[in-house]
Amino acid sequence: MGRLDGKVALISGGARGQGAAEAMLFAKEGAKVVIGDILDDEGRQTEAQIAELGGDATYIHLDVTSAADWDAAVQTALDRYGRLDILVNNAGIGGQRVTLEDTTMEHWDRTLDINGKGVFLGTKAAIPALRDAGGGSIINISSIAGIIGSRLGNPAYGASKGAVRLLTKSTAIQHAADNIRCNSVHPGMIVTAMTEEILADPERRQFYDDNIPLGRFGTVDDIANGVLFLASDDSSFVTGSELVIDGGLIAQ
Ligand code: NAP
Repeated sequence: MGRLDGKVALISGGARGQGAAEAMLFAKEGAKVVIGDILDDEGRQTEAQIAELGGDATYIHLDVTSAADWDAAVQTALDRYGRLDILVNNAGIGGQRVTLEDTTMEHWDRTLDINGKGVFLGTKAAIPALRDAGGGSIINISSIAGIIGSRLGNPAYGASKGAVRLLTKSTAIQHAADNIRCNSVHPGMIVTAMTEEILADPERRQFYDDNIPLGRFGTVDDIANGVLFLASDDSSFVTGSELVIDGGLIAQ
C-alpha cells in the first residue's frame, strides 16, 4: 500500500533536483505524476527513470510564467489520468549573491515572475480540477529566505519566497471549504544545482557546515519526505502551515 495510491500529482520544475526527487518518491508511493519543466531532456529522463522503477509519469513542457502552459499541464493530468489531487509548485530560480543596490529591475522582475507569479498561475489553473476531485493538496516550495532576511543573499529571491509564503495562507483559507489544503515548505541549504556555487567554495561550505545545527547540507530526499507528508492524507488537518526543513539553521 502506497501513501499516495490512486492520486494524481503535478510537479513544476520536476526535471531535476528536488522536483525530480519528489516525482520519484510520489510514484513509488503509488501516485501518477505529471512532471512539468523547461528542461525537456532532463524531464524526459526523469519520466523514463520513473517508468524503469515501475511507476507512471508523463513529462510536459511547462514554463511556469505562462498561463497557457499551466492550462495544458492540468489538462494533461485530466486527459491521461482522469483527475488531479496534488500540485507541487516547486519550480524556481535562485540565490545568486547580489545586494539590493546591485539588483537590476530585470533581475527583480524575472525572479518575481518565476518564483512568485509562477505559483499564483499554477494555483489558479489547478484549483478547478482539485475541486472537481473532491479536494486536494497544494504544496508551495518557498525557502528559509522567505522567512528571514540575509546579509549575503539576494533580496529579490527573499521577496519572491516571502510572497509564496503568504500566498499559501490565502489559498489555504479561501479554499478550505473546497477541501483543498495548501502549505509551504521552507528548505534550508540543500545539495542541488542551485547550491553548486556554494558547495564548490570551501570557505562558504565550511561556514554553513559550522552554522547548521545538524552539521550538514540537506538532501533532495530530506525535502521530498516532507513534501510527501503534506501531499498525503497523513496531513489531512494541516493547512496554511509552514514546514521548515533546514537542519535547525533558522531556529537559532
Ligand atoms: P533546481 O535543480 O535548479 O530545480 C529547479 C527547477 O525549476 C530547474 O529544473 C529549473 O530549470 C526549473 N525552472 C526554472 N525556471 C522555470 C520556469 N520558468 N518554468 C518551469 N521550470 C523552471 O533547484 P532545486 O534546489 O531543486 O529548487 C527547487 C525549489 O526549491 C526552488 O523553488 C528553489 O527556490 C527552492 N529552494 C532550494 C534550496 C536549495 O538549497 N537548493 C533552498 C531553498 C529553496 P533551470 O535550471 O533551467 O532554471
